Amino acid sequence: MDLETVIGLEVHAQLLTATKIFCGCSTEFGRPPNSLTCPVCLAMPGTLPSLNRKVVEFAMKMALATGCRINRRNTFARKNYFYPDLPKGYQISQDNLPIAEEGQLLIELEGEKKKIGITRIHMEEDAGKLIHDDHNPASYVDLNRTGVPLIEIVGEPDIRSPEEAAEYLRRLHEILVYLDICDGNMEEGSFRCDANVSIRPRGQKEFGTRTELKNMNSFRNVQRALEYEVRRQQYLVENGEKIVQETRLWDDAQGATHSMRGKEEAHDYRYFPDPDLVPVVVDEAWVAGI
Ligand code: ADP
Ligand code: MG
Ligand code: ZN
Repeated sequence: MDLETVIGLEVHAQLLTATKIFCGCSTEFGRPPNSLTCPVCLAMPGTLPSLNRKVVEFAMKMALATGCRINRRNTFARKNYFYPDLPKGYQISQDNLPIAEEGQLLIELEGEKKKIGITRIHMEEDAGKLIHDDHNPASYVDLNRTGVPLIEIVGEPDIRSPEEAAEYLRRLHEILVYLDICDGNMEEGSFRCDANVSIRPRGQKEFGTRTELKNMNSFRNVQRALEYEVRRQQYLVENGEKIVQETRLWDDAQGATHSMRGKEEAHDYRYFPDPDLVPVVVDEAWVAGI
C-alpha cells in the first residue's frame, strides 16, 4: 500500500522570565522542592493571579518571528482537570482567543524549502512536578515549577516525514534560543514536544486517525519515536486493523511507544474564560516596540 505520513507538532517552551506568570516567585531551576512558592502558586483560597508583562512580550516576540497575527485582544481560560501536580484543579491557559495565530516556519531538507504552518501560539502556566520513589514507595510533589510561564506553539499537520519533524523542531528551537526567550534545554524540560501522527492512502483528502506521542527528550528521539509509530500504524493498516486515537509514551530503552491513555477531547476539559483575569489588550505601539 502507498501510505502517506501526516505529522503535526505541539511544542511547549518554558519562557526565560525571572519570575512566574501570575505571581512574583522565582523561576530558577534546581532549587530545594517547594522553596519557590507563595499563596498564589500554591492555590490558597482568596488569592488572585496578576499577569507578568514580560510573558506577553516574549510570546509576541515568538509570534512576530514566525509571522503570526497577534490578536489585539486575547483572553485566558481555565482548563479543568485533576492531577496532584496541579493544586488549583485547573491550568490557566488560552482557548479560543490565543495571543497569536496563523504563522509559518520555513524548513529546508536536501536543498528543498518547505513552509510548515503554525496554527496558534498561546500563553499558559506550567504544572508542578511529581517525584516517584520506588523504594519507599511514595510520591512527592514539588510545586516550584507551578506557574512557570510557557508558550505552546501548535503546528499545522503539514509535516510529511519524521526527518521533516526533526528539522522543524531544530528551527523552532533555534528561533526561541536566538530571541533569548527560552534556554532550549530539552533534558530539563524547557523545550518539550508532543508529536501527533497519522497515515493515509496517498491521494486521500481526509486525515487518518492519529496518535499523540509524548516523553521524547531530544530531537533524535522525536524522530525515532515517529519512525517507530509510522511503522506500527502501517503494520496495523496492512493487516486490516484499526488505529485507536490515543496518547502513547516513548520508551527510549526499548525504542518503542506504549499506550498511555485514551485521547482526551477539548470538551473534556470544560474550558471557560478565567473570571480572575482581564483580557490582554495589545496596542500598535507595543507590537511595534517588540
Ligand atoms: P489537541 O492536542 O487538543 O487534540 P488539536 O486537535 O488542535 O489539539 O491538534 C493538535 C495537533 O495535532 C496539531 O499540531 C495538529 O497539527 C495535529 N494533528 C491534528 N490532526 C492530525 C492528524 N490526523 N494527523 C497528524 N497530526 C494531526
Ligand atoms: Mg495535544
Ligand atoms: Zn508564587
